Amino acid sequence: MKIATAVSAGLFALGLAGSAAAQDYPTRNITLIVPFAAGGPTDVISRIVGEHMARTLGQTILIENVVGAGGTTASTRAARAANDGYTLITGHMGTHAASVGLYPNLAYNPSTDFEPIGVAAGTPIVILGRKDLPPKDLKEFIAYLKANEAKLNQAHAGIASVSHTTCVLLNSIIGIKPVAVPFNGTGPAMNALIGGQVDYMCDQIVNTTQQIQGGLIKGYAIATAARNPALPDLPTTKEAGLPEYEVSAWNALFAPKGTPKPVLDKLVAALDKALDDESVRKRLLDLGSDIPGKDRRGPAPLAALVKSEVARWTPILKGAAN
Ligand code: ASP
Repeated sequence: MKIATAVSAGLFALGLAGSAAAQDYPTRNITLIVPFAAGGPTDVISRIVGEHMARTLGQTILIENVVGAGGTTASTRAARAANDGYTLITGHMGTHAASVGLYPNLAYNPSTDFEPIGVAAGTPIVILGRKDLPPKDLKEFIAYLKANEAKLNQAHAGIASVSHTTCVLLNSIIGIKPVAVPFNGTGPAMNALIGGQVDYMCDQIVNTTQQIQGGLIKGYAIATAARNPALPDLPTTKEAGLPEYEVSAWNALFAPKGTPKPVLDKLVAALDKALDDESVRKRLLDLGSDIPGKDRRGPAPLAALVKSEVARWTPILKGAAN
């Protein structure tokens, strides 16, 4: 009896301590896991919004790049991390949607093992080639891929990554199966494209704008309905003759399931504030990303997005051997 009383009093005290900790949050550094290598879109977006969120929250946000298996290694780790708001992850269309259709033993459920915080940026997909790839436009590029399928190397950031899935889609529309070369993120994949070690790639615009502007790689088309102000000379896939290829991705912040509501509220508000900040907006827009409007921010729209993206990608990717 005495023991039971002591235990329940202890639990009660623990509960109070937990809610006090949630109210005071954050009192120490926060780790934001980036599931890909430094320098790629997920890393860049995390650093831009993370820097501003850290100022709002009054604590440092440490970026930890945890690579492997198309971002699913890091996402597994984040799903299992303490749900106290001190470990977060920037997921994306790959880790939190496409992974479901491509990893039969995925160790987490993107919909039920995380608390969605909000979308940080939408990222149109751009079709890219190495600088000295012969084709001058998308039509020539498609003909070139068909004619040289056996000797082409296509870079991606691991199975289920955005660069993987969006090129699976492109390759299936064109009807080819090139050799796919995996990297730990499209930061390193971009270096290989610039160096000419791989031939082409599909990637989130954030990683491609400066490289196209600087003439380091070729941009063949942007897979959105309209041109992007960051790359006004780049034709849309529709203009360039491949209207059936229209695809965009996104990056978003998640916390482990069960993170206390007062903690989540602070994170949601900090992200919202970052996305309203003029210098954050300019940095994201200059890289070509699409900043979610108020109606697309926060947990509910992100939860709905994850659900609809899992439903969209699973049938496309099931059985895709690439
Ligand atoms: N853009 C990458 C992808 O293809 C990942 C990264 O952000 O490096 O999923």
